[in-house]
Amino acid sequence: MTKRVLFGGLFHETHTFLRQHTSIAAFEATALHIGRDAIDKNTGNGSPSAGFLEIAKGAGWDVVPTIQMAAMPSGVVEDAAIELFQRHFFPVLEAEISGLDGIFLVLHGAMVSESSDHPEADILAEVRALLAARGLDIPVVCVLDLHANVPQKLIDNCSAAVAYRENPHRDAYETAVRAAHILADVMACPGIAQVHLPTRYVLPPTGVGSADDPMRAVLAAARAIEASDRDIVNINVMAGYSYADVPHCGCSLSAATRGDPGRAQEHLQYLADVLEDNIARGYPRDAALSDVLDAVDQLAPGRGPVLLVEPADNIGGGAPGDATDLLGPLLALGRRGIVAALADPEAVDQCRAAGIGNAISLMVGGKTDEHHGVPIAFEGKVTNLTGGSFELELKTSHLASMLGTHAEMGPCAVMENDQATILLSSRKMPPMDLGQLHSQGIRPEEATYVLVKAAVSHRDAYGPIARASFNVDSAGLCTSNLTRLPYRKLKGKIIALP
Ligand SMILES: [Zn+2]
Repeated sequence: MTKRVLFGGLFHETHTFLRQHTSIAAFEATALHIGRDAIDKNTGNGSPSAGFLEIAKGAGWDVVPTIQMAAMPSGVVEDAAIELFQRHFFPVLEAEISGLDGIFLVLHGAMVSESSDHPEADILAEVRALLAARGLDIPVVCVLDLHANVPQKLIDNCSAAVAYRENPHRDAYETAVRAAHILADVMACPGIAQVHLPTRYVLPPTGVGSADDPMRAVLAAARAIEASDRDIVNINVMAGYSYADVPHCGCSLSAATRGDPGRAQEHLQYLADVLEDNIARGYPRDAALSDVLDAVDQLAPGRGPVLLVEPADNIGGGAPGDATDLLGPLLALGRRGIVAALADPEAVDQCRAAGIGNAISLMVGGKTDEHHGVPIAFEGKVTNLTGGSFELELKTSHLASMLGTHAEMGPCAVMENDQATILLSSRKMPPMDLGQLHSQGIRPEEATYVLVKAAVSHRDAYGPIARASFNVDSAGLCTSNLTRLPYRKLKGKIIALP
């Protein structure tokens, strides 16, 4: 018989130390699809939602859409945005509830709203309560980002949470496919339990790439357990997202099992021990720009640019993407061959007013807040003006986990002088795909320095073209040095090693 599956999505990684809140408009700028649009706008777009829809189509499921919304990582989500989700999700759930066989949600797991530290867990709890009130026990499966901060309440209120395993998140689509297969299995054969084990560790984003320890070691151990214990359906190694000041912030482990939950909990304890053994590499420090430039000057000649990675203005981590803490000094030092991108709608307007081919002098960057540098003077020629849309060149890049394979930066301008080429965009865009620069006529491959506002998510795109890469310290709010942040809610958590 045809299975009827309710589908929805709510995706945001919330940086609680940013002053600017995230409104409905921020979701509209990325993805806000209601009803049938939640299917039509996501089908085939390479996103996690597309992964679910592909399996649903193949299995002949009758998908009941509700609402799918996603916004770029940024500040605390306004309650109005959560209420919008609830308004389009719960009435459909209540109307359809008696005919449903399953529920599938594409979540992030590190969302914080004005009135809740874990709105996603609240929503799952409300779903579970509505089902229980009618004596129903249908499976609820959700997809989570590897950076999810997971409270017990989230695990307690779904049948299976299934998290990405790669960082950069090249497996977001594939994870949704895996989660949909798990939903199919549980719809066919109920009987699955989950266990959860929080850890003490709150790790900076630069410390949780899946190619490096500690994540590499823990993920490998998790895969070995799945291979050896046939009862285990799935194990999540969730790195957590360190810029959410919530009690459940940090690295956590969970497992779904068809066997003994006690045995699954033992597996998680073993994985926690592996994490502990490898924890030292989870807290990298970013180097001062002067030290990095000394090291760059010692490099043997080679092809490709040097990446100057600025984790503190990591756009994919929520930062504004307009920090000038690296660009300003590099220009002042007379360095040449620089490629940089700044989110600066005001500067875009000035370039548009000047027109292509004309030289102008303006102040760029540093305009969002006091944490990300000051506006710096730049004089150059406007070499391109565009609408700012591009297709991902790497269809499985980290960006596809957020946006699918089509991206919109809003109106953009390119400025050039004898030192630098700067992409100015109206909206911030994390540097996760080279299509962002190529589409604007910029060739990072030919630069001497490429400034990258990221922690790990840029690696699949920029790693292959680079001669060398250095993480450079700056003052921004996505700093790798978590001791700079004014946490209030972390109890018993470790944010730095002695
Ligand atoms: Zn993530």
